[in-house]
Amino acid sequence: MIATTPTRTITPEAPARLVRGRGCWLWIVPRCPLCGKRHQHGGGHFDADPRTLLGHRVGHCTRLSPAEVARGYALVEVAQEAS
Ligand SMILES: [Zn+2]
Repeated sequence: MIATTPTRTITPEAPARLVRGRGCWLWIVPRCPLCGKRHQHGGGHFDADPRTLLGHRVGHCTRLSPAEVARGYALVEVAQEAS
C-alpha cells in the first residue's frame, strides 16, 4: 500500500445540480461537503456551456476558516432529481 498523495490535499467533491437562474445558469450544491449548507455558483450565460465551469471552486461557506474556504471543493454534476 503506497500513498503518494497526502489525504488533506485532496479536494472534496460537491455534487451540484444545474438549474436555470435569472439570466444565467446556476450550479446548486444542495449539501456542501465542507459545511453541510446549500450553496450556489454561477454557471455562465445560457448560450455558453455551463459544464466548463465545473471543477474546483472556492467555497461559499460562512463558518469555516479562510484556509478551508480557499481549499474549496470540486463541483461535479449530478443527474436531475425528480421533484
Ligand atoms: Zn460550505
